[in-house]
Amino acid sequence: MSNNKWLVGIDIGGTTIKMAFITKSGDIEHKWEITTNVENQGENIILDIAEAIESKLTELGETKDQLLGIGIGAPGPVQMDTGLIYEAVNLGWKDYHLRDKLQAVSGLPVVVDNDANLAALGEMWKGAGDKSKDVVVVTLGTGVGGGIITNGQIIHGVNGAGGEIGHITSIPEGGASCNCGKNGCLETVASATGIVRQALEQVDNHPDSQLFRTLEVSGKLTAKDVFDAAKSDDPFALQIVDQISFHLGLALANLSNGVNPEKIVLGGGVSRAGDILLNPVKEYFRRFAFPRVSKGAEFSIATLGNDAGVIGAAWLIMEELNKK
Ligand SMILES: [Zn+2]
Repeated sequence: MSNNKWLVGIDIGGTTIKMAFITKSGDIEHKWEITTNVENQGENIILDIAEAIESKLTELGETKDQLLGIGIGAPGPVQMDTGLIYEAVNLGWKDYHLRDKLQAVSGLPVVVDNDANLAALGEMWKGAGDKSKDVVVVTLGTGVGGGIITNGQIIHGVNGAGGEIGHITSIPEGGASCNCGKNGCLETVASATGIVRQALEQVDNHPDSQLFRTLEVSGKLTAKDVFDAAKSDDPFALQIVDQISFHLGLALANLSNGVNPEKIVLGGGVSRAGDILLNPVKEYFRRFAFPRVSKGAEFSIATLGNDAGVIGAAWLIMEELNKK
């Protein structure tokens, strides 16, 4: 591989597609976004991507020779050896041959993985994973995503559903219903959506709380409101943060007892709460993890933000090209 050529990292989301030209050292040279066009069962998406690559190259006065290949992430389970997306509900894809289709329209080698897995690889390579080969990344956003890396490899499992940390059952009986069809998943507790739901369910019992007043004034609550109130020692907000931390710490401890990670990285919008969340999660983790597992594991907050996916995608295509 020539040294100054670029890898293309792409992260498809329900509303925008993040794209970047990235060096083989994992530095972003150019990044931009296009809108996700979900019309026509998402059939326009790969054409839009191919066109966006072409026009960016033209804009930069470069040709396709400058590009080595494309790593791309989509929000759904992936069959790794074929690059098939089993299903991406947000995009309208079902049994979608993403790798083959994108290779055909772009003329470049393509490798596909799930978006959460790519974010985990990105953090492993250039972020909080700090090049460790045994990393668990949990992304706390609107939902809860995850990626489990052991010995440098993402766990995919038999049908692409490995690393679905968000669907670890946290409330076995009577939990809130989850998008996946189950009840009581970690996602219903520790996602931004779940945090707000829990606050709203209980806020009327705490008329003296800061959150009660915030709700009265602004007519709504956000996960950030909950953490802000906790930071100013609001007892009700602290109680909610404690509930979230308990379930997160327990789930991560049980998971870690199976994989013995070196790094556990919390990412996504909710992780911006920082120590007010990280400290109690660590405490519960230490309580529930096997002592030797606990000793081996270090916690940190993700550092790459929205760039994690495109950087992980670039890493994956580089690995793929190195195999050849
Ligand atoms: Zn679920």
